[in-house]
Amino acid sequence: MSPPVNINAALDRLAADEPLANRDAHLAKLSGGTFDVLVIGGGITGAGVALDAAARGLSVALVEAGDFASGTSSRSSKMIHGGFRYLQTGDVALVRESLRERHALQRNAPHLVRVMPFMIPLFLKGGVINPKLSRALGGALWSYQFAGAWRLGRRHKRLSHDEVEHHMPALDMERIGAGYMFHDLRADDARLVLAVLATAATCGAVMVNHARCTGLSDVKNGLRTANIGVDGTQTEVNARMVVNATGVWAQKFLDGVGVDSPRKLSPAKGTHIVVPIELMRNDVAVSLPVASDRRTVSVVDEGPFAYIGSTETTDPADVNEPSVTESDLTYILDGINRHLTREITPADITSGWAGFRPLIADGKSARSSDLSRRHSIEQEADGLITVTGGKLTTYREMAEGTVDAICTALDHKGRCTTRKLRLHGYSSGASHLSKGERLGKRYGDRSAKVEQLAALAPGLGEKITPRGDTIIAEALWGLRAEMAGSLADLLFRRTRIATYDGRAVLADAEGIATRIGRLAGWGENRITAETETLKSALRQELGVLALDLPTPAENRTREDIT
Ligand SMILES: Cc1cc2nc3c(=O)[nH]c(=O)nc-3n(C[C@H](O)[C@H](O)[C@H](O)COP(=O)(O)OP(=O)(O)OC[C@H]3O[C@@H](n4cnc5c(N)ncnc54)[C@H](O)[C@@H]3O)c2cc1C
Repeated sequence: MSPPVNINAALDRLAADEPLANRDAHLAKLSGGTFDVLVIGGGITGAGVALDAAARGLSVALVEAGDFASGTSSRSSKMIHGGFRYLQTGDVALVRESLRERHALQRNAPHLVRVMPFMIPLFLKGGVINPKLSRALGGALWSYQFAGAWRLGRRHKRLSHDEVEHHMPALDMERIGAGYMFHDLRADDARLVLAVLATAATCGAVMVNHARCTGLSDVKNGLRTANIGVDGTQTEVNARMVVNATGVWAQKFLDGVGVDSPRKLSPAKGTHIVVPIELMRNDVAVSLPVASDRRTVSVVDEGPFAYIGSTETTDPADVNEPSVTESDLTYILDGINRHLTREITPADITSGWAGFRPLIADGKSARSSDLSRRHSIEQEADGLITVTGGKLTTYREMAEGTVDAICTALDHKGRCTTRKLRLHGYSSGASHLSKGERLGKRYGDRSAKVEQLAALAPGLGEKITPRGDTIIAEALWGLRAEMAGSLADLLFRRTRIATYDGRAVLADAEGIATRIGRLAGWGENRITAETETLKSALRQELGVLALDLPTPAENRTREDIT
């Protein structure tokens, strides 16, 4: 089935110059190619390395086993932050570095980051606020300011009881006396990865998703040869330097290619749940203490939704199958409900996600929250570097260090340019757009193209789910302009509707696949296959949240969908 002719032609025209539009062209250059640098892993770390290296004039290829950002880089708390709480562990250097990088992102990608006011309520004990605690928090916020938070041009301030209530009316205010507000940034993690990759592609990097590195030869004549499984076949890529940027799979990758590494990763699982914003009514991010441990959970407003998280556990879990479990759910619900006037129940939850932090074990701390968010760059063997750890916020710095090491190894003179390099879609006005101008904050200067697309036919402007604000045109744009390979890629990472409204997407998977598929020109067989893949991805991601779905149309029992 072909899509309506005008849509097809308009899509071709609008996406023609997009750096990620033509996967076949990227694949043709990758297959059998020889590059200065081959990056394994298309999360934020690999994307950052590809961009830095390509911008220094090196020839670069990147392969990603799944979809771009399908690992940890679409599962974070989505904060571009200095790590205010790292001040507690005394890691001021990490806070400084993070705040410097936060500022760099604000300068280079104002269309992708937004200011995030962050509120910390002060709790009453015996009817009064503990003055020592309040002073300590105020002091720590000044330290944060001096460490570099001042660059945002906002100062923290003390809030009255009424101001705290105003910012989150759902809070049980009986136990709250006042609060503090400070500011960080936020960004859609998966869209940040895409923007970095698109910028790298503009600088000449070649990149292919759904392409897994399955083997790596020893160095011969200055080159390593990587075996890449892509689209059901095997291809080879030669590179002078290979960068292992596989996140929580870094160890597994090294084991697979027979390289012994002294470092050990300690993946820490983090889970978020999502609820309708009406239940939280917060207009700022809010940090709330969890009674059962020394941790906090944050409530972050996100359009029609609010997400709450995260947990942080190192219980043995399969990093290949991040999923919301019963204990994750209990932890978050117990943690949040004691602060609310109206408790949330599992039935209120619209979605949830889990991910694994690639933390580096220090052999001492039992709690993963004590492990450093610092990164490590290691020369594993001739022509092979591993970069891991760190955070979304510090990806550029991690990349700079990695490419410095590559340049030394290759005796390449190029200097790092990413500190002031604008990211794909750069639009200086975008960060100041009103809440209603959502597309500008996702696509920057490309939002005009998505708007043109939406105006072409009535179905294109329709929302994908009743609660969410994502429209069908965004999905088609992702398909044609942003190298999405499947409906799941579209709904989880080009748009984020499956992330925030996953249960609604699962309940109407057939309907959504049909609406998108017909406009995209998919035949019935492809629509059916895409629906099944999407459903199974959703069941995997939602875990316990998928079990409570009413499934009358399919006449399934709970047992059927486990
Ligand atoms: C719950 C949680 C909350 C977080 N919140 C924040 C936050 O608010 N702010 C912040 O700055 N940071 C945050 N982080 C940290 C941040 O998300 C991670 O540090 C970052 O995303 C890691 O990126 P990465 O590219 O190293 O790993 P990944 O994103 O996992 O990328 C690695 C990629 O390698 C691919 N891969 C693996 N093996 C192969 C192979 N053989 N061939 C090809 N590809 C392969 C994988 O498919 C994967 O896509 C959070 C993390 C978690 C878990």
